[in-house]
Amino acid sequence: MMTTQLQIAGTGKISGQVEFVAGIENLDAEFVRSELAAGRLVIPANKLHLKTNLTPAGIGRILTTKINANLGTSSIRSTIKAEIEKMRVAIDAGADAIMDLSTGGNLDKTREQLLAKCPLPFGTVPIYQAIEGRQVEDIDNKIILEVVEKQARQGVDFFTIHAGVLREHLPLLKNRVAGIVSRGGALLAKWMLYHNRQNPMYEMFDDLCDIMVEYDVCFSLGDGLRPGAIADATDKAQIAELRTLGELTHRAQERGCQVMVEGPGHVPFNQIQYNMELQEQICNGAPFYVLGPLVTDIAPGYDHITSAIGGTAAAFYGASFLCYVTPREHLGLPNTDDVRAGVIASKIAAHAADIARGLKGAAERDRKLSTARANLDWQTHLAQSLDPQTAERMHKEACKEIGVKELPEADYCTMCGKQWCSVRTNKEIRKMIDGEAAPITK
Ligand code: SF4
Repeated sequence: MMTTQLQIAGTGKISGQVEFVAGIENLDAEFVRSELAAGRLVIPANKLHLKTNLTPAGIGRILTTKINANLGTSSIRSTIKAEIEKMRVAIDAGADAIMDLSTGGNLDKTREQLLAKCPLPFGTVPIYQAIEGRQVEDIDNKIILEVVEKQARQGVDFFTIHAGVLREHLPLLKNRVAGIVSRGGALLAKWMLYHNRQNPMYEMFDDLCDIMVEYDVCFSLGDGLRPGAIADATDKAQIAELRTLGELTHRAQERGCQVMVEGPGHVPFNQIQYNMELQEQICNGAPFYVLGPLVTDIAPGYDHITSAIGGTAAAFYGASFLCYVTPREHLGLPNTDDVRAGVIASKIAAHAADIARGLKGAAERDRKLSTARANLDWQTHLAQSLDPQTAERMHKEACKEIGVKELPEADYCTMCGKQWCSVRTNKEIRKMIDGEAAPITK
């Protein structure tokens, strides 16, 4: 009989994965186990992915905030090679998890090749493959279960399952500006209206749980009715679905499944705290995985920034897992530069929240970098930055302009110039206070 991380934790045992996560997060393993047993922490780790190349990672409020990078082919563009390269860039830039949202080309082969090179928790949305080669109206329970089982057998660690969109929620959408923006949510809504039946994911939820338990695939309960415009945020449809997700969280955990819950979307800044607290209450503290949230709709081309602003607030008030957004969101399939920019923006959002939450050691790197900056120690300054590649490039460009070849030689930069460099002046001030030297002004 195979057992899940949740079931093992429930018996009071500390699994190797709990031990590992506690080690990297610098926490007591028993504390991590108890949070996992309570359903407030997950370690998405398919038993088969664990046997190959997975390095386990935890997601939950007692841990550092994690970030996910989405990639995958579209029906219009991209190749497996290009998506593997995007995954490499995302991992290099610091992503904590990868989701393959491919909808074009050979989906099985794409997933297999990405998984073979992915040491991070790896997620998918199985409903995308269920409609491969057929109309959404033609899918049935058997097709969905076969796809879910196949992907679980391949080693996928977490599945987005849109089981919370119910037929009775659909009339609540009529006044929405942006309708349903979730691909999975829209497909299932169409299926329900066509067949005049309940969401098949909801109806066969127990069967899905059986597959998830067997492989220990973690649920990521999808928010098919997430708002796609700030005007739609926190509306009746979104909250009705959240209440169903709360019920499903409980049902899945009772059956031994690990669960996280997906959340909005587009949300004005002042509604983020309420959204985070409501999810925590309804889903009993199950880790909240938010898609942004984007705090304004008017910045296409810069949505990595609008989502990072919302991401920090979300992670401060309750989310444990942020899905990145790239600058190309709403405009096209991201390229490697977009993936990199999205991961870095999301890392900044997560880290800023971790500092504000007062997580032990969260600000240590900031102190290290600031000390190096104050000492004009460029090498440490650049090495400690979240994106050393960009920081080094920009600094080298500045060095070139002031005629300095080696990084350690630069004792100012082009930002203020030598005479106005407050870091240099501060060094002099410190020496003067210590009585070591007279001021140097030239
Ligand atoms: S010149 Fe200005 S920006 Fe550059 S190191 Fe000095 S204080 Fe910092």
